[in-house]
Amino acid sequence: EQTTKSYLLSSLLFLYYFLWIAAGPWGQICAGNPSNKIRGCDNKGCGNYGARRKSKRHLGVDVVCNDGSTVYAPFSGTIERQVIPYKFNNAINNGLQLRGSGFCVKMLYIKPVKYRGQITKGNKIGVMLPMQKVYPGITSHVHIENCNKSDPTGNL
Ligand SMILES: [Zn+2]
Repeated sequence: EQTTKSYLLSSLLFLYYFLWIAAGPWGQICAGNPSNKIRGCDNKGCGNYGARRKSKRHLGVDVVCNDGSTVYAPFSGTIERQVIPYKFNNAINNGLQLRGSGFCVKMLYIKPVKYRGQITKGNKIGVMLPMQKVYPGITSHVHIENCNKSDPTGNL
């Protein structure tokens, strides 16, 4: 019995260590999603990098985030500028470009708390906009893409 217990304990420790190692360098993106879970497929499409988008490809990842949730800085650095995703305005047409710690990303569909200045990993940078109003039934999410369009999945 004691052997079984210590075996289970060491297995759990190993699993915990593995998950800690497997996690990328970025911090938690959205309140309520501590593992940075990526949007699967829903009636509007899939959230993974490279997913089909009409004639194009999805060159970012969609991190699950409920409307109104707090959004955090994934790394420390600076806010470079506001990013407006759509030509025609809607309720989720806002975002930021961040740079620092060796990274440059755009984070879309958030209402930023500010458009310039320093950010610290884990601090609030904005709030998830009401995506359900624009795309009913979609898995609400923050879209994150690298400035150079490379795959950011491993950083999550
Ligand atoms: Zn996306």
